[in-house]
Amino acid sequence: MTSDETQSQDFIRTIIADDLAIGKHEQIVTRFPPEPNGYLHIGHAKSICLNFGIAKENTKARCHLRFDDTNPTKEEQEYVESIKDNVRWLGFDWGEHLYFASDYFEQIYQYAEHLITTGKAYVCDLSAEDTRAYRGTLTEPGKNSPYRDRPVAENLDLFRRMQAGEFPDGTRVLRAKIDMASGNMNMRDPVLYRILHASHHRTGDTWCIYPMYDYTHPISDALEGITHSLCTLEFADHRPLYDWTLDNLPTPCHPRQIEFARLNLSYTVVSKRKLLQLVNDGHVSGWDDPRMPTLSGIRRRGYTPAALRSFCDKIGVAKKDSMVDVALLEHCVRDDLNETAVRVMGVLAPLKVVITNYPEDRTENLTAQNHPQKPELGERAVPFGREVYIEREDFMEEPAKKFFRLAPGREVRLRYAYFIKCEKVIKDEISGEIIELHCTYDPATLGGSAPDGRKVKGTIHWVSAAHGVPAEVRLYDRLFTEENPDAGEADFKTFVNPESLLVLNNCLVEPSLANAQPGSHYQFERQGYFCVDILDSQDGKPVFNRTVTLRDTWEKEKAKG
Ligand code: ATP
Ligand code: MG
Repeated sequence: MTSDETQSQDFIRTIIADDLAIGKHEQIVTRFPPEPNGYLHIGHAKSICLNFGIAKENTKARCHLRFDDTNPTKEEQEYVESIKDNVRWLGFDWGEHLYFASDYFEQIYQYAEHLITTGKAYVCDLSAEDTRAYRGTLTEPGKNSPYRDRPVAENLDLFRRMQAGEFPDGTRVLRAKIDMASGNMNMRDPVLYRILHASHHRTGDTWCIYPMYDYTHPISDALEGITHSLCTLEFADHRPLYDWTLDNLPTPCHPRQIEFARLNLSYTVVSKRKLLQLVNDGHVSGWDDPRMPTLSGIRRRGYTPAALRSFCDKIGVAKKDSMVDVALLEHCVRDDLNETAVRVMGVLAPLKVVITNYPEDRTENLTAQNHPQKPELGERAVPFGREVYIEREDFMEEPAKKFFRLAPGREVRLRYAYFIKCEKVIKDEISGEIIELHCTYDPATLGGSAPDGRKVKGTIHWVSAAHGVPAEVRLYDRLFTEENPDAGEADFKTFVNPESLLVLNNCLVEPSLANAQPGSHYQFERQGYFCVDILDSQDGKPVFNRTVTLRDTWEKEKAKG
C-alpha cells in the first residue's frame, strides 16, 4: 500500500488506540469472518479493509481470515477459494492465520455440554411452529417452553443422543436458558444447536448437529484471541447474546464486539442472497459478471485493488447506515487508472477514411506516448497508412453548433499523426448511409502542428486499416435503473437495467493490443478505461471490458442544446 493511503481516525480506530494506550492489550487481533455461501461483494471490501487495515497499521497486530462455516447445506469449497483469492487480490495477507469455525466444532460441543451441566442450556422438543408461538412478539413477552426445566442429566443424555444421530432433523434443539420475557428477542432462549443430517464440506459426516452462528461466533473469536470483533450494525441486537455466551463459558478471553455501518451502494444490491438470485435467474452471466458488485465481477470489469482501498478509505467507518453514491467508486477507479493506465487508440464504431494524397504502398511508424503526462511510461510505434478508421461519431455531415470534429471541408488533427481535411463523403447509393470519407492530409503537420500556424479545433483518434486488430468491446452500464432497487415493495429484480450490457463486435484497436495481457488496463483515448477480459480474451482477438467512461463534456453540451 502506498503512503498516501493513510487512514483517517474513525471511532473504531480511536477505541483501539485508547485500548493500546491504557495497556488493555499488548497486541491487537481482528478477524474477517465470511460465511462461504457466496462470493464476496463490495460491502465485504469495506469490512476487509477495516479489519486487515487495522492489523497493518498497528505493530504486532494481526488479522485472521476465518470461515464461518456452520451451515453445511449452503456452503461450498468453491466459495472458500474465491474468498481467499479476493482477499489476496485486495492486497491483504492473513499469513498463518487461516481458520474455520468447523475446526472448533469439538470445542464448541464441549462448551455446550458445559452450559447444560451448569443449567444454562436445555433440550427443547417444541416444533418449529410452537417455538415461534412461544417466542412472543416485539410487544409481548414469550412463554417458557414446557421443556425448559428438564433435569441436567436428561438434557445431557438427549443432547448426546442428538449428536449420536438418534433423532431426525428438526425434532429437537438445544437452547440457551436466558429470559423469555427479554425485550431483546435474541435473548429469548435462542437456539444453540440444531439437528441436521447433512455432510459438511470440511467435516464430512462427523456431525449431525450444527451450532448456530450466534453461539459459534463469540466462541471462535475467543479461541483465536480476537481483541476487537468488528461487525455490521445488524449485529448490535445480538451483542447481549455474544456477551452472555462468553460470560457463561470458561473461554480464554472475552473479545469486544463493535458494530459499524454496512456499506450500501446506489444502483446495486449488496447481499449474497440477492446476488445469488441474479445469477440463478440468468440476469447476469455468473458471480463474476463485470456488472456484479462482487469483488470477482468488479475485478473483471477492471477496477483495481488500489481504487477499492481508496474508496473504502474515503467512505470511512461510521455508526449510522447510509447509501454511498456509486459515482464515488467510479471516481476512485478513474483516479487510479489515470495515473497508471497506458493510453492507446481503439475505434468502437469504425468509419473508413481514405487519405487520397497519401502514397498507396506506404506505411509509417509514428510515435505515440504511452502516457502524455508521464514520459517515464515510454512510447510505442503506431503504424499509419493511406486508409484509417475513425470513430463514426467523430464525423458529422452537417455539424451541430459545438461540434468541433470532422465535417465536410473541415480540417482536424489525427492524434500522433497529421492534419486531415474532409474532401468528399461517399454514401451507399441505396441506403444513403455514409460508407467512407475521402480526405487529404498535410505532410507538413506531422507532430500535430502546422508550420504556417493555422489551427484545428479537433483532435480525433484513429486506427490504421491495414494494421488494426479486430476486437470485441463490452460496454457496461449500471445494473439497476433505480438508485435503491431494494427500497420499495417491488422485487428488486424488476429494476434490472435491460441496457446494462452492450456488446460491440466490429471494433478495431491499434496493433500493440493484438496480444494484450488479460487483466491489463488501458485508457482508450477519449473514450474511457478498459480492461482486457480475463476469461474470453484471446491472442489476436482481444476482448475489452469498459471499466468506466471518461467525463464526457460533449454529452453535457448536447444535453444543454
Ligand atoms: P450478505 O448480507 O451479503 O449475505 P453477510 O453479512 O451475511 O452478507 P458474511 O459472510 O457473514 O456476509 O460477512 C462477513 C463479514 O462482512 C461480516 O463481518 C459482515 O458484517 C461484513 N459485511 C457483510 N456485508 C457488509 C457490508 N455491506 N458492508 C460492510 N461489511 C459487510
Ligand atoms: Mg451472514
